Amino acid sequence: MTETGKHLLEVKDLKQYFPVAGNRHLAVRAVDGVSFFIDRGETFGLVGESGCGKSTVARAIIRLNEPTDGQVILDGQDITHLKERELVTARKKMQMVFQDPYSSLNGRMSIREILEEPLIAQNRKLSKEERALKAREALLRVGLSADYLNRYPHEFSGGQRQRICIARALIVNPEFLICDEAISALDVSIQAQVVNMLGDFQKEYGLTYLFIAHDLSMVRYVSHRVGVMYLGHLMEVCESEEIYRNPLHPYTQGLLASIPVANPREARANETPAIEGEVPSPLSPPDGCAFHTRCPHAKEICRSVCPQMKDMGDGHFVCCHLYA
Ligand code: SF4
Repeated sequence: MTETGKHLLEVKDLKQYFPVAGNRHLAVRAVDGVSFFIDRGETFGLVGESGCGKSTVARAIIRLNEPTDGQVILDGQDITHLKERELVTARKKMQMVFQDPYSSLNGRMSIREILEEPLIAQNRKLSKEERALKAREALLRVGLSADYLNRYPHEFSGGQRQRICIARALIVNPEFLICDEAISALDVSIQAQVVNMLGDFQKEYGLTYLFIAHDLSMVRYVSHRVGVMYLGHLMEVCESEEIYRNPLHPYTQGLLASIPVANPREARANETPAIEGEVPSPLSPPDGCAFHTRCPHAKEICRSVCPQMKDMGDGHFVCCHLYA
C-alpha cells in the first residue's frame, strides 16, 4: 500500500505490543500491523473509537515509544530504531500537539520559557534575543498578542492554551505535525477557529498533518484522506469524501450510522444499524477479523482468517472478506 520514497511519512506493518507486568506470555496488542503513508502537504485523518490504537500509532511515529515491529520512515529515513540522540534531526521535522491543553503546558513556566524550550532542546545556536524574537513571532502567528509572553498558562482559556501548544510545535519549523485529538477538548466554535488556522498554515508553509480524532464528521472537513482503525488494525483507507459517499467496511458504515443527523427523514433513510456490543480487549483480541464479534455480516471465514488489505481502485483500500 506504500510507494517508497514518494511520501513524507511511511508506516509499514507497525506493531506496538505492551508487556503485561507479572505475565511474560501476555501482551496488550495496541497496534497490530498498521500500514499507511502521508504525502507532503497532505492531511491524513486517523479515526476510530477510544482505545483503538490511534494515539499509540502517533506515539510510535514520533518515537515516544519504540515500536515492537514494523517501520516508520520519515522523509526517506528509517527512524524506527534510532537512539534518542540520533533522533534530533527527525524531531526537527516533526512535532506533536496533544489533546489536553491544560496538562500539556507546564504551569510553572512562563509562555516565553515554554516557547523557547524546544529551541534550546534542539541545540539551536540562537542568542537570547533571537530566541525571544522567535517566541514573539510564534505567538503572533497563532493569533495571540506578544504581550502574553510573560504570563503563565493558568491565565489562558483552553482555546488559547491550545494555540500556545501549536505555537510551541511550530516554532522549530517542522514539516510534519501530528494533532492527536488536538481539538477534541475545545468548544465547537473554538474548534472551527483552530481547524481554520491549521488549514492556513498548511497553505502557507506546506505543512503535512496526521490528524487523529474519534469524530468522523470533524475529520471529513480537515482531511484529504482518512484511515479507519479498529482494535489496533487499519480497516479502511480512502479519500475523505469517498468514505462518506461509499463506505465499504462494515465498521466504517456503523461509525457513520452513529453520527447524529439533524434531519429525521435523512436518519430514517440510512438503514445501517449503529454498531452494537463492546470492543474486545486488546489483551485477547479475537482470531480472524478483529471486528467479527460485532459485525452484522460476519461469515465463517471471518472467525478464523484475518483479512488482508485489498485495493478497490482510486486509492480506496478495505480490509474485509466481503471484498475477496
Ligand atoms: Fe465483517 Fe467479516 Fe468483513 Fe470482518 S471480514 S468486517 S467480520 S464481513
